Amino acid sequence: MSDSVSIHPVPESWARTARVDAEGYEKLYGMSLADPGSFWLEQARRLDWIKRPEIAGDWSFDEADFRINWFADGKLNVAANCIDRHLAKRGDSVAIIWEPDAPEEEPKRFTYRQLHAEVCRFANVLKAQGVRKGDRVTIYMPMIPEAAFALLACARIGAIHSVVFGGFSPEALAGRITDCDSTVVITADEGRRGGKKVPLKTNVDAAAAHVRCLEKVIVVKATGGDVPMQEGRDLWYHEAAAEVPAECPIEPMGAEDPLFILYTSGSTGKPKGVLHSSGGYLLWASLTHELVFDYRPGQIYWCAADIGWVTGHSYIVYGPLANGGTTLMYEGVPNWPDASRIWQVVDRHKVEILYTAPTALRALMREGGQYVTSTSRASLRLLGSVGEPINPEAWRWYYDVVGEGRCPIVDTWWQTETGGQMITPLPGATALKPGSATKPFPGVDPQIVDAEGKVLHGATEGNLVIARSWPGQMRTVWGDHERFFQTYFTTYRGKYFTGDGCRRDEDGYYWITGRVDDVINVSGHRMGTAEVESALVLHPKVAEAAVVGMPHDIKGQGIYAYVTLNANCQADDALRAELIKWVRTEIGPIATPDALQFAPGLPKTRSGKIMRRILRKIAEGDVSSLGDTSTLADPSVVEDLVSNRVQLS
Ligand code: ATP
Ligand code: MG
Repeated sequence: MSDSVSIHPVPESWARTARVDAEGYEKLYGMSLADPGSFWLEQARRLDWIKRPEIAGDWSFDEADFRINWFADGKLNVAANCIDRHLAKRGDSVAIIWEPDAPEEEPKRFTYRQLHAEVCRFANVLKAQGVRKGDRVTIYMPMIPEAAFALLACARIGAIHSVVFGGFSPEALAGRITDCDSTVVITADEGRRGGKKVPLKTNVDAAAAHVRCLEKVIVVKATGGDVPMQEGRDLWYHEAAAEVPAECPIEPMGAEDPLFILYTSGSTGKPKGVLHSSGGYLLWASLTHELVFDYRPGQIYWCAADIGWVTGHSYIVYGPLANGGTTLMYEGVPNWPDASRIWQVVDRHKVEILYTAPTALRALMREGGQYVTSTSRASLRLLGSVGEPINPEAWRWYYDVVGEGRCPIVDTWWQTETGGQMITPLPGATALKPGSATKPFPGVDPQIVDAEGKVLHGATEGNLVIARSWPGQMRTVWGDHERFFQTYFTTYRGKYFTGDGCRRDEDGYYWITGRVDDVINVSGHRMGTAEVESALVLHPKVAEAAVVGMPHDIKGQGIYAYVTLNANCQADDALRAELIKWVRTEIGPIATPDALQFAPGLPKTRSGKIMRRILRKIAEGDVSSLGDTSTLADPSVVEDLVSNRVQLS
């Protein structure tokens, strides 16, 4: 399909006004690799340091002297960078706009000055409960402003936060509290998502039964729902906050002191407790946010992720606030009360920059264009995508229907481990190809290697590694430094292995083909899942597709496809045959699915990523050991898939 891709040149207006144009990108990128020491010390000036660093990167990916340090002699406070330093110039500008779940409710707005008071109060409540620098605090919250205050309050006093997505079960929560030995959990009485209540406090109570380390539970009153409070352990946030001042000094932190732990989404296995630093991470979040979104203070920016994912950390809270921006936080889901909500929120707040995930786009696309076209969206200037490869079909829908051909799309490839965006267009610099994350961000040195680790040059396909450290890189797996080294630095010696497969085309553009573990090998031809899935999604009746390999007597591996249809489309044998033929025509006979199962839903992580490892087990008929399913959004989907498994055709 690569040959037929359309190219969208940089719009003239963007080339003229954006911070970085095509020439600027080449220059910046070249400098970042030629002289990383000076380049990064210069970039570090964008932060407000208590002690300015004099050394940039000090790292080695080799086993003998394995280490990752950035700006190690610098001192700063992350919350001060996100709040205090903006007060003089922008104290009365809006830092956070909060859009409630129910559309008839009023949004809330917090200026930087108000944010300062809220965060200081929260920090003082934590201190009053004995929380000190280096302590771990688990945050299990709905998408309410207090969630952002809680993150920043931890940062202010140097506590390490560990956010657990509010959709996780008590068991998953208990595992994550125990893994990092949190003594304090911050939660709310209940959360709200799409008109439904989420019993957060009750879940914490259930989790607490399996946890030894937990001492205090701080409960924010969000819905006013009736929840039991345990004497001596639980306290209401609003009562504790009434007793403390709205001023709290900042804790000076070493650049390498940890800022947070965050567990990966678990699409490939047991989640890992990814640890991020204070200085390097904040620099990465802030620099990428500014350049990738060409962000300028005053612009209304909305990252429609949950704070429970790294996207929420870097691009709802830390990046935009470090840049003095206005960040929109949305409590609900994109398709409630109906599929036009996300666009109504855009109109209500005049959002200029929208950042969301392919899974959300495919779900909305499935409902039809009328939900989009009934809204204005005139304020939109730039669109972003993150989390999975975006199928060219979804890309075009985002571009043509949502953006009306006027807004560039930044398709950003990165991982919890990378702290921020790594391979991504810059809107004023990069011509776009639908489905490609395009080019590396300054400082990022990607390589494509074969199975033996040999570096492949030019247009090629293989495994994606990053050959040198960058400031936003994770520093360890919490409590298991050996697992960190083993997981990421032993597959290809001296390099960070991403786990993703990737193709590079003639123009040096990168195309993520899916997880390396998911690569299918049909009669000796290696195929990424993304390509076959994109071909299926191209069919007008297909909403979403997931493709996995299965054992095949003759070919070695056969292709098993799971397909979800658009609203009002009938699943039958005729359509099955048509779709199989469709893929054959789109990609070639080698990609012809051997089995195709219609699925009302696909197993996804709570963050919306398809869990192919489970689909692989089902395709193989091995349903007794599905592996870690604790991060599955809807376990009932699996039962349906198992009972409707189809045989090889
Ligand atoms: P786990 O590591 O526990 O299996 P996970 O990899 O799903 O979980 P994340 O860190 O949230 O956890 O996801 C990172 C992965 O998401 C990347 O490695 C890549 O496979 C995929 N990804 C993210 N953004 C993009 C993108 N723009 N294009 C293609 N793939 C993407
Ligand atoms: Mg991963």
